[in-house]
Amino acid sequence: MRQVNLDNAASTPPLRSVLDAVTAFLPSYGSVHRGTGYRSRVSTAAFEQARDTVGRFVGADPDRDVVVFTKNTTEAINRLAATMPFPRDAVVVTTMLEHHSNDLPWRHRAAGVVHVRATPHGALDMDDLAARLDHLRGRVALVAVTGASNVTGVVQPIHEVAELAHRAGARVFVDAAQLAPHRPLAMRPHGDPGHLDAVAFSAHKMYAPFGTGALVADRSMFGHRPDHPGGGTVAAVTLADVVWAGLPDREEGGTPNVVGAVALAAAIEALTEVGLDRLAEHELALARYATARLAAVPGLTIHGPTAADKVGVIPFSLAGLDHALVAAVLADEHGIGVRSGCFCAHPYVAHLLGLDDAAAATWARRVGAGALRGAPGLVRLSLGGYSNRDDVDRAVAAIHAVAAGEIRGWYDEQPDGSFVLRCGRPALPARFAG
Ligand code: PMP
Repeated sequence: MRQVNLDNAASTPPLRSVLDAVTAFLPSYGSVHRGTGYRSRVSTAAFEQARDTVGRFVGADPDRDVVVFTKNTTEAINRLAATMPFPRDAVVVTTMLEHHSNDLPWRHRAAGVVHVRATPHGALDMDDLAARLDHLRGRVALVAVTGASNVTGVVQPIHEVAELAHRAGARVFVDAAQLAPHRPLAMRPHGDPGHLDAVAFSAHKMYAPFGTGALVADRSMFGHRPDHPGGGTVAAVTLADVVWAGLPDREEGGTPNVVGAVALAAAIEALTEVGLDRLAEHELALARYATARLAAVPGLTIHGPTAADKVGVIPFSLAGLDHALVAAVLADEHGIGVRSGCFCAHPYVAHLLGLDDAAAATWARRVGAGALRGAPGLVRLSLGGYSNRDDVDRAVAAIHAVAAGEIRGWYDEQPDGSFVLRCGRPALPARFAG
């Protein structure tokens, strides 16, 4: 059975051109920056070219912005949260639509974190954002918002958010983990009201899963002391003192992931060649097709704002069926790879499921006490640029069958809430079969 991967919001497979670029580079691999040998020179050139490619991809200003390579978006946001100088009483405004990676790092950093509400349908409530910025005027250091939701796919009006943030004297950071692979992303010039002060994204969601992400931010958002001090972050060290290196070096402690940077640059080149506008058009049309076909499945509810501008992420539930069971049956009986649960965005999923604060607190208490079964959640289909109607048709037919109660195997619910087919589960390749 051909496996259909509809879990691209989590991670994407590598493009062939990315694999080719990595294979072509590897024989010359060497340690960057400090070596004088040929490999070191090639690797340093490849690494710095990749940095330029990333900067150009988001329209960064080479004089004013810095590209820092990180492991992924989560590390990029933690890095920014740790380094960005905040006044003591500063507040970070984020939203209840965020992935935890663009919420939790801020919670321990500023004097407070404020979560802008979602509308009843799950869109960002721009009136609430404006009201909160107004109320907190002068105290908001940063507005941290996702570019596109990993739960509903809804694309946020990031430049409008930036205008509001700047008017309130705040900077804006965009978590572009879900936006960068699917839509053109432009920081716009400094001084433009819609300018994005900082953005971050992950290569593994952009067809280059080699362990790299990027933080691109205005130089002035970095403190003078790195959060990860060590080799490569210094200009001089005595037993008593340290002179820190300039940017980006002082934010890239230790030996960097050159292969990951080469892979990310190759992916960016491929996406740019196809054209992110074209890709967006293809994905939007396919998402609309999938949404229309899914809406006809009895007992199926699609969550979130369906009419909004969205990347190809479709979260749904089937009446009377546990989300984890649906995901297991789709995988084991139909060869459809999806994801289920809360997608590292618990407050947003709770909101979409209509749980109020008290119900969400009860759920958290139950989980804290070790009761993971039966947790609220959704099933998520997520498209990639390579997805096609055949993939969608396969998934829709399978979901129709599951909704009609056609579940052929026996599934055991695990203590963590997942379901495992009792026998006949497709075997893993021998070397991974443990
Ligand atoms: N933000 C969003 C919107 C995401 O979808 C994800 C990944 N699911 C992240 C942040 C975190 O990305 P990573 O796991 O690559 O750090």
